[in-house]
Amino acid sequence: MLARAHDTEDWRTLLASAVTDARELLRRLDLSDHPLATTLQQGPSFPVRVPTPYLACMRRGDADDPLLRQVLAVASEEQSVAGFGIDPLDEAGQNPLPGLLHKYQGRALLIAAGGCAVHCRYCFRRHFPYGDNNPGRRGLEPALDYLAAHTDIQEIILSGGDPLMLDDDALGWLVAQLERIPHLRRLRIHTRFPVVIPQRLTGRLVDLLANTRLRSVVVLHLNHPRELDTGIADAIIPLRQRGIPLFNQSVLLKGVNDNLTTLTELCELSFDAGIQPYYLHLLDRVAGAAHFEVPMAAARQLYDALAAALPGYLLPRLVRERPGAPGKVALAPRWEIS
Ligand code: SF4
Repeated sequence: MLARAHDTEDWRTLLASAVTDARELLRRLDLSDHPLATTLQQGPSFPVRVPTPYLACMRRGDADDPLLRQVLAVASEEQSVAGFGIDPLDEAGQNPLPGLLHKYQGRALLIAAGGCAVHCRYCFRRHFPYGDNNPGRRGLEPALDYLAAHTDIQEIILSGGDPLMLDDDALGWLVAQLERIPHLRRLRIHTRFPVVIPQRLTGRLVDLLANTRLRSVVVLHLNHPRELDTGIADAIIPLRQRGIPLFNQSVLLKGVNDNLTTLTELCELSFDAGIQPYYLHLLDRVAGAAHFEVPMAAARQLYDALAAALPGYLLPRLVRERPGAPGKVALAPRWEIS
């Protein structure tokens, strides 16, 4: 792991000091005079947000840095592209109560927080009405009643936004409410927060996830092997030591990870760190993210090569989401064997 000056800083301080201006981001990367600076989006409705531990892993002077590409708001996001919309997964139709999404049988998703530590430009929820879905403790009561009434729901997924935007007190309160619902068995946390600010994995948070009667599962969102350089590999050791399963899901992103070397390294280095490769998502067609799309034929060709390069247990499942489908749609390798 790279030793970094911010290793001992509190996660809240690091969150508050995130870079929120694209020009400042380029300045810190010695790219102010690069032609890239003329492509920036003016006053993006989905603002720039880049925590400094993540910024520290970007290469100075490299306009094509795959970490930078994920967070830089460029003017092309404003172009209207056919097939790309503000709610590509029709989540508005699966949002029975503020803060609750119930898409799939047996599990439901709570919007635990309306913000994120980093703003990923490809995010399929970049237009999600968090203002209507961030109800706070009292406002969550109907969602908790809904979970209690639906006895077929066994797994609760905390997502967002990023659920680790809640502090440990707030998260502890929420987990205590969920523990009281007898048919809930698993607590799944989907988060990118520790990737960009590893300090978020406090001892208290680890205790909370390890001591709840619910079986905790953490799904991290790493898209590039260099994202392991933020310090997350060390930060997750206590989770591993407490027996909490760790998975990774990635999004296949043009110019970020759409090549065999990068994806192979991502799977191998994640596994070395104790994180099981899980999903490789095709991009959800959200307005503003068209420049990240890898055409289907190229995606499948790349996945075929990845499947040939890795042992089966390191191969994430290539999936896409289809509104109305009972689960994620998996795409198998298509080797031709004569
Ligand atoms: S952390 Fe996740 S939810 Fe937040 S902006 Fe990034 S992809 Fe979207």
